[in-house]
Amino acid sequence: MNNKHELIYEGKAKKIFSHDDESKVIIEFKDDATAFNALKKAKFEGKGKLNCLISSKIFEYLINKNIPTHFLELRNENTMIAKKINIIPLEIVLRNIAYGSLCKQTNIKPGIVLEKPLIDIYLKNDELNDPLITKDRIELMNLLSLKDLDYIIDLTLKINFILKRFFKNIKLELVDFKLEFGYDSKNNILLGDEISPDNCRLWDLNQKNDTIVSLDKDRFRNDLGGLIEAYSEINRRINEFI
Ligand code: UDP
Repeated sequence: MNNKHELIYEGKAKKIFSHDDESKVIIEFKDDATAFNALKKAKFEGKGKLNCLISSKIFEYLINKNIPTHFLELRNENTMIAKKINIIPLEIVLRNIAYGSLCKQTNIKPGIVLEKPLIDIYLKNDELNDPLITKDRIELMNLLSLKDLDYIIDLTLKINFILKRFFKNIKLELVDFKLEFGYDSKNNILLGDEISPDNCRLWDLNQKNDTIVSLDKDRFRNDLGGLIEAYSEINRRINEFI
């Protein structure tokens, strides 16, 4: 990145740079991986590139289905141009199958297919360890109007409907995922962040006897190895399909 593009923000997996056009930003995907609120850290060469390519394809697919997103274009293999948005500090998690923190915090067994998608909302705050939050607390904190929150939940359900089918086509089960939304300069709500195996659980449907094979960040969280191979396989299947 040349120095006329100022670093605006550096997160755990991405860097955000200014763009000549003030309404846009440049997003660089890093090779760093973190889990458990950054207690576990590693670097995987090529992860940034894979997540950038996968996210770009998924954003394009969603835009074609009339989902408003921040994505504008791929700049090169590990950077994309996006609309500048003010991120709402909420992590919207949608679950189709029980796994991860849902099973650690309840007595729901891992692998149970949920009767209807479950939406869990977390406050995006590393110092507080991203706590699970309620609608009433969101209202109390004045984070956004309940009308906008309902809109975001509705959009998340629509995105799930589209992506579940999309991934089924490439023999992947969409177990759960995390989304972030933000406001553009005209106060429109847009889907932001990324959609990649870093923030989706994707299980391989090409397996016999219902064996769970994770092709996502669980390979790192649970020390399964083969993270780059798994992400490359997802990228390969997406490119074959689109
Ligand atoms: N997730 C994420 N960022 C977070 C927490 C969760 O992208 O800070 C994603 C995660 O990859 C998974 C889904 O949200 O696809 C649900 O994660 P869960 O709450 O089960 O937490 P985890 O098991 O990751 O601790």
